[in-house]
Amino acid sequence: MYVKELFVDNFRNLQKQKIEFCEGINIFYGLNAQGKSNLLESIRLLSMGRSFRGSKTTQLIKFGEDYFYVKAIICQENNDKKIEFGYKKKENKVIKINGNKIKSASELLGQLLTVIFSPEDLNIIKEGPSHRRKYLDSCISIVEKNYLYNLMQYNKILINRNKLLKNIKEGKSKNILEIFDDQLVEYGAKIIVVRQNYLKNIEINIKKFLLEISNETAEIVYLNSVGLKDASDEKIVKKRLKEKLLKNIDLDLKYLTTQVGPHREDFKIIINGYDSRVYSSQGQQRTVALCLKLSEFEILKKETGEKPILLLDDVMSELDENRKKYILEKLQGFQTFITHTTKRDLKGDCYFKISNGSVIKE
Ligand code: ATP
Ligand code: MG
Repeated sequence: MYVKELFVDNFRNLQKQKIEFCEGINIFYGLNAQGKSNLLESIRLLSMGRSFRGSKTTQLIKFGEDYFYVKAIICQENNDKKIEFGYKKKENKVIKINGNKIKSASELLGQLLTVIFSPEDLNIIKEGPSHRRKYLDSCISIVEKNYLYNLMQYNKILINRNKLLKNIKEGKSKNILEIFDDQLVEYGAKIIVVRQNYLKNIEINIKKFLLEISNETAEIVYLNSVGLKDASDEKIVKKRLKEKLLKNIDLDLKYLTTQVGPHREDFKIIINGYDSRVYSSQGQQRTVALCLKLSEFEILKKETGEKPILLLDDVMSELDENRKKYILEKLQGFQTFITHTTKRDLKGDCYFKISNGSVIKE
């Protein structure tokens, strides 16, 4: 698939305009703070339903205005698909696919397939477990149909279980705890099995990319909440999770939170035998992040049978010549959007100059 055209109105600092893209590599160049990342953000918004920079929807509205609207025409197997996203302050978001309003932003997932590369990817490697969980969940939710639903159900039950722990501490009966535990186990096990399989897939790909890029070995270790080396058998995972919940009940009651489960999980990326989060240099971590993203891209491509679109925000300036060449070769044949401060040293199929929110095709 590829984005044929984009229309933005009151989105961040971007001028109201329609932009037509080409199918190959689109280069957006301009000085700092002109609107390059904002442009990629508007495309990614139509793909994921939210900002890739973690901003709230209301922050996407141009300063001093009270709404924004973004529309894209996507070409997929010679058919055009229209995706629209509108938001007015104090009102609900209005998202439409081919003119039909959808009930929840989650219905957008899978409609416009994108993979974003940005300097913040480094946080997935460097930061705490919640960053990796969030990343994992967002990748999986596109390729696994029920994943997001199961995750949302799990989180709801978790909140209620934690409330119940408080009530039990205050003297209420423990009896209904088992009902919550069973539900938590039901959804939790499904989440764990899918995460396990996805991470196995990531491992196969990341091994290959890292070997090619820097001749290093990579391994992924899934730190699942059931303590299993391989957590892909749902029946076994269920049994183990139930046992863990029962075993931890005293701790749960002490801290009034559920101590085990998918909400506490993590994964490690081991490079040449060492945990990349702890031992890799900044440059190595950057390479690992790049390979992780390339793996996400490979899986998305394979699982959907579609050609995802690549959004590269400011990553070129951070890569050395070899890595730059490597990534551009990998992305051949896919629509790619690259932001850069200069036009020089990047070969594209079309170029756009961005200045003060205005995007001019050359
Ligand atoms: P850099 O090369 O530094 O990454 P950029 O071209 O990617 O720059 P953007 O992140 O797209 O820059 O931001 C462009 C401008 O948009 C910034 O000056 C920023 O302050 C401004 N901006 C951010 N949010 C809004 C908003 N809601 N309304 C208007 N302007 C905004
Ligand atoms: Mg930027």
